[in-house]
Amino acid sequence: MNPMGIFGGTFDPIHYGHLRTAFELQQALRLNEIRFLPAGNPPHRDQPIATAQLRLEMVRAATQGQAGFVVDDREVRKIGPCYSVETLAELRHEYPNRSICLIVGMDAFLSLPKWYQWRELLQLAHLVVAHRPGWRAPGMGPLGELLVDRGTGRINDLHEARAGCIYIHAVTQLEISSTDVRQLVAVGRDPRFLMPDAVRKLIIEANCYTKTRIS
Ligand code: ATP
Repeated sequence: MNPMGIFGGTFDPIHYGHLRTAFELQQALRLNEIRFLPAGNPPHRDQPIATAQLRLEMVRAATQGQAGFVVDDREVRKIGPCYSVETLAELRHEYPNRSICLIVGMDAFLSLPKWYQWRELLQLAHLVVAHRPGWRAPGMGPLGELLVDRGTGRINDLHEARAGCIYIHAVTQLEISSTDVRQLVAVGRDPRFLMPDAVRKLIIEANCYTKTRIS
């Protein structure tokens, strides 16, 4: 079976930058499915503004009807901090023979050494890095070395092994971030066309970002 893509994020809220990236990777890498995993209580960053339940609902609304897009709520259901390495270990246990591709944006990849047990990740999954505007792949340091060791330009490597490779893929650059969306809503502007309408509707109904503090 073709590899499974894992796309984790805070998704506070989900937007077209996420969705287009997932779709392009699904097609280019011939991924059997893309599993969206909204984070429950992310340990390595600030707490989200919208509740985990609402972020999950937004991800469900955004992905509904897209073949191969699946929502996995395990991190939202978990109480206490939730580390990617633990989630991946669970998935590895459930799918012992499947190739698993953990999808991250370049910004997330650059912060990888701050993740809990980050070196274990490649024993459990491949890493697929989506290029984001303004970010460049590291040439030095631990990540630069890791790229020399584990980097590949062959999509077939992601199909032939279950884990262990790093593949960098350029996606259409959509300079949208959840932070910008939240700030826009906070100043009373309309986030239309930055995300599916169903997500925009949930944001308006829940009135969740109107009090976002602008830094
Ligand atoms: P925030 O602005 O709150 O930090 P974000 O927009 O970066 O949020 P996250 O939920 O933190 O969204 O991101 C989940 C994953 O999606 C990360 O791996 C991130 O790099 C990636 N991502 C986010 N926005 C884009 C985008 N516009 N294009 C490609 N990848 C993206």
